[in-house]
Amino acid sequence: MTTLVQLLSGRKKESSVWDYFSHNAITNKCRCTVLDDKGDECGFEMAGKKTSNLKLHIKAKHPAVFIFIDKDDKRKQSDVTVNKQTCKIKADDMEEQGS
Ligand SMILES: [Zn+2]
Repeated sequence: MTTLVQLLSGRKKESSVWDYFSHNAITNKCRCTVLDDKGDECGFEMAGKKTSNLKLHIKAKHPAVFIFIDKDDKRKQSDVTVNKQTCKIKADDMEEQGS
C-alpha cells in the first residue's frame, strides 16, 4: 500500500524500524541489526519487508529499542499533519492572490 506519507516525502523507509533492520533485495529478507549488551548483532531474519512484522520482532525481543521506534514514528506522523496544513494554507493563499 502506498501511503500519502510516501507520496509526499518520496521516501520508501517511512518507519524508524528501518534504522534497526537492513533489507536484502536479493533474498527479500530483512535482518535485525540491533546490538545486544555484548555488542553482538541480533541477526534475526524475516522474509518480506512489512514494517508491522518487523516492529513485532523489535517489540518482543528489543523492548527498549521499540520505545524509541514507536515514539519516533508517532512524531513523524504528526510532522505529516503539520505539512499537510502548511500545504493547504499555501494553496489558499495562491487562490486569493489569483483572483
Ligand atoms: Zn532482533
